[in-house]
Parts: sequence; structure tokens; C-alpha cells
Amino acid sequence: MKFGGTSVADAERIKRAARRIVNQREVGRRVVAVLSARGQTTDELVAMADEVSRTPDPREMDMLLSTGERISCALCAMAINDLGHRAISLTGSQAGIVTDTSHTKARILDVRADRIRKALSEDFIVLVAGFQGVSTNRDVTTLGRGGSDTTAVALAAAIDADVCEIYTDVAGVFTADPRIVPGARKLPYVSFEEMLEMAASGAKVLQLRSVEYARTHGVRMHCRSSFDDTPGTVVLGEDETMEHPLITAVTHSTEEARITLLGVPDRPGAAASIFGALADAGCNIDTIIQNEPLGEGREAEVSFTIAGEDLRAAERALEPVVIELGVARLDTDPAIGKVSIIGAGMRSHPGVAAKVFETLADQGINIEMISTSPIKISCVIRAAAVPAAARALHEAFELGAGGIHPERPFGEEAR
Ligand code: ADP
Ligand code: ASP
Ligand code: MG
Repeated sequence: MKFGGTSVADAERIKRAARRIVNQREVGRRVVAVLSARGQTTDELVAMADEVSRTPDPREMDMLLSTGERISCALCAMAINDLGHRAISLTGSQAGIVTDTSHTKARILDVRADRIRKALSEDFIVLVAGFQGVSTNRDVTTLGRGGSDTTAVALAAAIDADVCEIYTDVAGVFTADPRIVPGARKLPYVSFEEMLEMAASGAKVLQLRSVEYARTHGVRMHCRSSFDDTPGTVVLGEDETMEHPLITAVTHSTEEARITLLGVPDRPGAAASIFGALADAGCNIDTIIQNEPLGEGREAEVSFTIAGEDLRAAERALEPVVIELGVARLDTDPAIGKVSIIGAGMRSHPGVAAKVFETLADQGINIEMISTSPIKISCVIRAAAVPAAARALHEAFELGAGGIHPERPFGEEAR
């Protein structure tokens, strides 16, 4: 059972999570619970680091960020003990989560869960601090924003759990973010294939890596509300048959930035140097456009999007490359957004892209870049235009209407 930040935001909610965990124990199940930092704690810790340094050392950043989830676990253990059960809280390191050494976005290499297994066999409820591990250099690491989902899936795989339940502040995975598309509908099921595309294109309800990990290790994920008992969304394996609607969901992101390099020499290896430097700095690249000039001069323009939080690191990584290649200019744009539509059914249907472009044009929204996969179409647009674009696409593809499992409007369960 994994509880997200909103689900443990204050004393009342921690007690509610404790009660929910205990209820499972009382019907005979053994429980490992993974908790996130309370409310906005991680953002506050990031802001604290920014106050003292413009370029905080990543190792120290992880020492700082890992504290948020430890607080949640210790408090929840206290609440569970008060309910007459025995609980033990563990840091990621104590729980046996071993990672590589890439601070602030470490990858899990191994889960040595013997301590958890022993505690479970001694009838403890085990609480594990999410989002963190210990590196092969024995330093504290964190797993990237939203990483508690991945902690939960990795532990579920290691102890061969029946299910990995992700308790969050919405009732499951919706056809769009219910915070910006009020008519969004909860999906009872979603395939791994589609969920991966959704997570990769901005639906932060499940962290991308957690979905990858669950698929690789065969973990059943159930994303559901921490405020009520209604079933949420089950992520289905490829072998579990289901219908493929044309379009399953609209996703969006406003946390992207763009870098444009003007006057890149048109010769073999230029792109390799640029993207090699970014890879070494750990920056994930999203959409790339390179135009090949035909006329005199022979200089190309290379433009790509990255996560907004990687912008500073990317600029730093590119400084020497710009000099080495003799690039004329480097422009950055932090106000980038993206809307995407995802659906396994689009693979075999013409006209989906045309409808996306038409819908955005009707809203007067300019498309700056386009990228596609067999089951996804993404458009890079101004960040400010994202909510209107997401609503328009959701409506154009009729994702809210005729839902199989109509839900109460978003927010009702929270009241
Ligand atoms: P937690 O703190 O529980 O990990 P997150 O904030 O990481 O929660 O993820 C839940 C949020 O994801 C929701 O509040 C919602 O605004 C957002 N979200 C974005 N896209 C979707 C979607 N397609 N379905 C459900 N929620 C979504
Ligand atoms: N607390 C971390 C974050 O805010 C990890 C998580 O919540 O999953 O990103
Ligand atoms: Mg999350």
C-alpha cells in the first residue's frame, strides 16, 4: 500500500492511512506500506536548498530530500502502534533498496528485502520511506520526483506481493487530469502500453519508472483513492485481453523547457556532441527537431524540449559544446507546454492526427513541435494554452461521454 503526499498531509490523514493499513492487517493480510513526504514537504525542501545555493550538491540534496518521507513513516508507525498493532518504520536503505550513484534520479539496482520479510514474519506492519535508497557507494539517494511509486512497485516485486495499491488524491487513472478537465472519466483498466505513454507524457498519477518496473517484474498495480473504498484503475498486462478504444486519454505537461541552437555546423557528429553532453549530464531529451538547410552557408537549427527542472543543468552541459562546434546562438524558452493523446486503437486508424491539429487550430492554438509514437501524438504548444488544449481534445475525442463507469465529479470525495 503506497500513500502519496496529499494522503498523509496532516495528522488526521496520517491516522486515516494508519487505520486503512490496520484494516488490511485485521482481515489477515500482511502489509508493507510505502509513504511519501507530507503535502508540499519535498517542494519546501527544494526551496530551502535554493535559498542557500544556486547549484546544490546532488549528494547533499539527497540527504535533504530523503528526510520528508522518513517523517511520514515514523508518524504513521506511532499512529499504528496506538491502534494496538506493531509497526516498524524503515528508511529506504534499511529496507534494502540499493541504487546506482546518480543522485536525485537514482535507479534501483537491487532490493534486499530480508529485513522486511523477517519483520513481516514477526507480525509487524512494515512502513518504508518512499523515494529513496542507498547507492553502491553507500550514500543516500533519491529516485526522482514521484519516486515513491517506484519504491512501492520494487518492494511489491521483491516480496512477491499480491498487489501494489497506489493510494492517491484522485479515484484512479482518468481520461485526462481531472484537475484541468472537469469532465474526465475514471478508467477501470488501462494497459501497460498506454499507461507508459501516459506517464511519459505528463500524467504524473503514476511515475513512469514505476510502470516500467511493474511491467518488467509482473507486478499488479491498482491506483485508487485514499479517501474512499471504491475500486480505482488496474494496470493490465499485455496478455490480459481488453478492448482498445481509439483514444484512451489526453495528457498534458507544463513543466517543460525548450533549447534552440542556431547556426549548428552541418557536419557528421554535431548532433552526437550536443546530445552526448546532455546525456552525460543526465538530462532526458523529449522532442527533437533539426532542420537541414539546403542553401548557402549550410548551418542547421537544432531545437529540443527537456524537463524544466533540467534546464539549468542542460545549459551548463552545452556551454563547452557551443564553443567547440562554433554554434552561433543558444536560446532557451521556459514557457513550454505539451498536450498528447494516447490510444492503442489509433495504430490502425487514419485521420487521428488531422483531427488533433484541426481541434487545436479551432482554439487558435499554434503547434510549435510535433512528435508521435504508434499510439501517441504529442504537440508542443505555449504552456499557457495547455488547459484549453486538453479540454478541447478531450471533448473532440468524446472521452468523457458515455463512460462505462460514471464517477462522481472530481473533488467530491475530498469534501
Ligand atoms: P501522490 O502525491 O499521491 O503521488 P500525485 O500528485 O503524484 O499524487 O499524482 C496524482 C495527481 O495526478 C492527481 O491529483 C492529478 O491532478 C494528476 N493527474 C494527471 N493526470 C492524471 C490522470 N490522467 N488521471 C488521474 N490523475 C492525473
Ligand atoms: N516526495 C517525493 C516527491 O514529491 C516523492 C513522491 O511523492 O513520490 O516527488
Ligand atoms: Mg506521485
